[in-house]
Amino acid sequence: MLKKSKGLNSRLIELNKFDIREFKGLLSDKAKIVVPKLFKTVQRAKTDYKREMKNLPDNVQSAPKEFWEEVIEQAKILGIGLVGFAPVDENFIFKNDYIGGIEFLYENGIVLGMEMDYEAIDKAPEPPAGLESLNIYAELGEATNKLADFIRSKGYRTIACHPLGGPILLPAMAVKAGLGRIGTQGLLITKKFGPRQRLSMISINATPLPEVSQDNFEIDEYCKKCKRCVQMCPVNAIYYEPIIKENGIKTRIDGEKCIEYFYESTGCSICIKECPFHKIGYKAMYYSRL
Ligand code: SF4
Ligand code: SF4
Repeated sequence: MLKKSKGLNSRLIELNKFDIREFKGLLSDKAKIVVPKLFKTVQRAKTDYKREMKNLPDNVQSAPKEFWEEVIEQAKILGIGLVGFAPVDENFIFKNDYIGGIEFLYENGIVLGMEMDYEAIDKAPEPPAGLESLNIYAELGEATNKLADFIRSKGYRTIACHPLGGPILLPAMAVKAGLGRIGTQGLLITKKFGPRQRLSMISINATPLPEVSQDNFEIDEYCKKCKRCVQMCPVNAIYYEPIIKENGIKTRIDGEKCIEYFYESTGCSICIKECPFHKIGYKAMYYSRL
């Protein structure tokens, strides 16, 4: 019933390296609201997890179709733009979850996505883009906790996985849930928002999951022709061809280079801004191919 990591390493996100003095004027006022909210939502997810672990359920619960419809409806009310379902994959659970302290997950996952503001991301790598990332981490964190509460109120058991440094590789779970595909820059690309979303998940002790309609959505052929993110990354952190790391994991991103610049620039986001799936969207990309 409970699932645990099979040893995947995670990268530690050190929020204290993120210099919020870079936010000036109105941005500074917004940061004073966003940052405490972000910490509060992480803390809330941690507290709920501890409570969950003290009193574990005996069995997996059965959930009717109507329950999942209610979950989707409630997610929309909370401003969550993407909802998908997939069994939790133990290969995607991190060995060390620094932010949430979460070690175990229930067997199924509700993967959630929230759009980041187009105009703010278009200013990357200037501070408005970085602040918008933090803002959506906070907003989605709060919405995820609230949706987990809603599900508990229906009698099911949940563990909320915060979008910032949560316990599982969220883009991989999102692909499994049929929400999109991974682009060359390593981010989830969806038909609705391109690469312009943050992700979270709720693991749930309920089955069977609703049927997932897998979109016929291939982006590899666009990425092969494009490579704009590779060219525009200021620190060459995106490789033309994927490499295999010592632990056998395939990646296109030099995580160390990326995270250093991410801190330095207060949130970078250039590889989101420059991606045509952000700039002109999936439909325009699709028709331009014809
Ligand atoms: S910028 Fe181009 S290569 Fe990079 S993810 Fe977007 S479409 Fe793919
Ligand atoms: S976030 Fe910035 S530094 Fe990191 S891969 Fe994207 S463009 Fe490069």
